[in-house]
Amino acid sequence: DPQLNQHYSFDNFIEGECNRLARSAGFAVASKPGGTSFNPLMIYGGVGLGKTHLAQAIGNEIKRNLPDKLVIYVSCEKFCQQFVDSLKNNTINDFVNFYQAMDVIIMDDVHNFAGKERTQDIFFHIFNHLHQSSKQIILTSDKPPKDLAGLEERLLSRFKWGLSADMQVPDLETRMAILKKKMYTDGIELPDNVIEYVANQIDNSVRELEGAMVSLLAQATLNKKEIDLNLAKSMLKNFIKNTHKEISMDYIQKLVCDYFEVPVEMVKSKVRKREIVQARQISMYLAKNHTKTSLKSIGAFFGGRDHSTVIYACQTVEDLIETDKKFKAYVQDIQKKLKIS
Ligand code: ADP
Ligand code: MG
Repeated sequence: DPQLNQHYSFDNFIEGECNRLARSAGFAVASKPGGTSFNPLMIYGGVGLGKTHLAQAIGNEIKRNLPDKLVIYVSCEKFCQQFVDSLKNNTINDFVNFYQAMDVIIMDDVHNFAGKERTQDIFFHIFNHLHQSSKQIILTSDKPPKDLAGLEERLLSRFKWGLSADMQVPDLETRMAILKKKMYTDGIELPDNVIEYVANQIDNSVRELEGAMVSLLAQATLNKKEIDLNLAKSMLKNFIKNTHKEISMDYIQKLVCDYFEVPVEMVKSKVRKREIVQARQISMYLAKNHTKTSLKSIGAFFGGRDHSTVIYACQTVEDLIETDKKFKAYVQDIQKKLKIS
């Protein structure tokens, strides 16, 4: 199974209060896929907290226990892309049959279904088929099912059928244990006070924690220095600063178009179809609020429009945010994606 990454295992997944329920439910599912009431198993939590690691570990563990089982790991994003491709190539049946033949499906980041109604429909049918035949479904998401905006109610209600288990930010002790485990795996040694310092400073995500350590090691190697607490302190300052990036209009446009499944060219064209206008107006609104670009340049970027069009778009979006709950959820969802990247 090329989609499973052997690096992720239960062995190198550190257990803490933050992930205990998710981990033990995952372990139960791995020894009896489809045979527990944890179906689907939904693992949810913020970015970089170990959802993908755990989901992959479950897949690898199933293959270890039951090598004949067909296990597929797929990110929701890739699934959506495959669906669009199969529409284009007239191969929807193959696409559906492929997934319905699996014993275990692991779908990562299902919040990315938001706004993609056609792909959700297809997944709804695949889900039903697999669930009825007692096949195991494992999902990850950045929010609990009840807070997933832009997902259809019938799909959400199925996501709630099994067990939803959250992943929280690990406490200091667990963060230190994760760093030590990683050092051990990579054959590195760092003084305890440095480990503690890094774990203290980076307290929002395991991914950033690991990133800080990697960057620290790289810089020390480059400068041929031993890492002590002072060096760690001066280096980590840069690391924390560098994580704030500029957002570009290209990026906003791509994000919004992906989100609503509309082609980028359409947004820049004169097309007045409702969903295109909506994507265009939201893009302008985000460009105004999240970049330093002038209204004139924003208008020019989105198909040579003038600045009064941009003002009108922003006003429309603000009004809709006030009056339309679903619309507001869409915009917030996109804004969240903008800030993560
Ligand atoms: P998410 O999918 O929630 O965004 P990932 O699974 O990609 O997060 O985790 C980010 C990084 O942190 C990965 O390198 C992963 O191996 C590591 N990690 C997260 N939680 C743990 C843990 N409990 N033990 C060991 N490594 C962890
Ligand atoms: Mg992930």
